[in-house]
Amino acid sequence: MKIKHLPLDQNINGWAALRDETRRYPALRGPVTADWLVIGAGFAGLAFARRIAELRPHQHIVVLEALDVADNASARNSGFVIDLPHTVGSTSAELEHANAYRRLLQYGLSHLKHTVDRHHIECDWLNSGKYHCAVSEQFDGEIAHYQQELTTLGEHFELLDRAALRQRLGTSFYRSAVYTPNCILVNPAALISGLADTLPPNVTVYANSPALQIDTQGTIRAQTPHGEVRADKLMLAINGAARGLPLFKGNVFAMSTFATLTEPLTPEQRALIGDIAPWGSTPVNALAGATLRYTSDHRFLIREHVNFTPGLVTGAVETGRHAHRHQRLFARIYPQLQDVNMAYTWSGLISITRNGAPVWGKIADNVYSSAGCNGSGSSKQSAFGRLLAEHALNEDNPLLADMQGIGRASYLPPRPLLDAGVKGFMARERWRSRSEL
Ligand SMILES: Cc1cc2nc3c(=O)[nH]c(=O)nc-3n(C[C@H](O)[C@H](O)[C@H](O)COP(=O)(O)OP(=O)(O)OC[C@H]3O[C@@H](n4cnc5c(N)ncnc54)[C@H](O)[C@@H]3O)c2cc1C
Repeated sequence: MKIKHLPLDQNINGWAALRDETRRYPALRGPVTADWLVIGAGFAGLAFARRIAELRPHQHIVVLEALDVADNASARNSGFVIDLPHTVGSTSAELEHANAYRRLLQYGLSHLKHTVDRHHIECDWLNSGKYHCAVSEQFDGEIAHYQQELTTLGEHFELLDRAALRQRLGTSFYRSAVYTPNCILVNPAALISGLADTLPPNVTVYANSPALQIDTQGTIRAQTPHGEVRADKLMLAINGAARGLPLFKGNVFAMSTFATLTEPLTPEQRALIGDIAPWGSTPVNALAGATLRYTSDHRFLIREHVNFTPGLVTGAVETGRHAHRHQRLFARIYPQLQDVNMAYTWSGLISITRNGAPVWGKIADNVYSSAGCNGSGSSKQSAFGRLLAEHALNEDNPLLADMQGIGRASYLPPRPLLDAGVKGFMARERWRSRSEL
């Protein structure tokens, strides 16, 4: 299989830029052999590699990453490690599905926490909870519905009105929000770097080493620009890039989304929003609204806009457009902070499936995958990657039944039908949520 597209974001990941020191991994040069080859060093690939290495300490695992480890999509995200599903549904089957999904998210989160604590990974891990926010009364129904769903799940939450949100977030922009207390906020570049740096010694990571040709008949072989890996088994943790490979049967496609970090607020600017603690908020409509954070070092993060990106490339001109969009949006949310400068705007890939279920499991002889993050992957892909390793090694874990229960990615039409469908859907969602920005 020839790889036709690789992810490219022509912009600077702000989270990585804030870090003083990031370990650089060598590129692969020459031939190497391994028991396992993992392609992709995001949350899924790293969780998978770690678990295989723990369970098979005498086996050798090679991880190939096309980019720098601290610069891939997992390192470019908004830093929410979520503990709860966004939707539950109303039937008992949907409730069971939501319960299974919650167990999986919480498993991913608790393993991330365990690794962060054990290895003292400095990633600004903060248990600050999350505000699920609506701007206009048009979404009152969705806020009420979300409360109902949390009640059904037996989760603790608070409903906040505009005045209470003004106190906590320093803005009157939001009409209402549901606050849940157990979401974690991190610097994702620091977390992903820390996860890679603390892998067991039987894992070798090569960065800037895209697999350009992958053969899965007999011995697994992957060629990079200057090297080749031969392995017994393969895990494809390539998420947004998965559509290009026939093994994924076209059941997944790539979109990109954009984030901006501001400069830190000065003491004078901070006085204009009040003495507020770091927080994170997600919009009622993740595709068409904005995610926001206020960080411990007094910056704001804005994540907004999702684009169909079949070629996996986001250029500098497009990034520039979104930088201006985010600046205008920020000025509407914080009219008192007109003089806050934007520091970095960047993009990153996510992968989407039609029914929200992943491409997870064995996808061919000796080939496994966890792809189709559907926009959130820190806790989810950490759980899916770890459980996939256990599944591949025939280990017992009661959560494997939950993995089976969440279903499989369903059929998507081929391009250009897919393009028309996705663009039409996005246009509808943006129109439906136009009052939220
Ligand atoms: C701006 C933004 C904000 C987000 N916010 C959040 C959030 O707050 N919380 C959350 O949970 N999720 C968030 N997400 C989604 C989250 O980042 C993804 O779900 C997560 O990164 C998926 O992890 P993964 O390991 O499956 O895939 P990725 O992180 O995409 O990893 C796949 C890796 O495969 C590599 N690769 C692809 N092809 C090849 C090849 N041929 N050879 C070698 N390597 C290859 C890629 O370079 C990439 O590093 C956000 C995403 C973006 C872009």
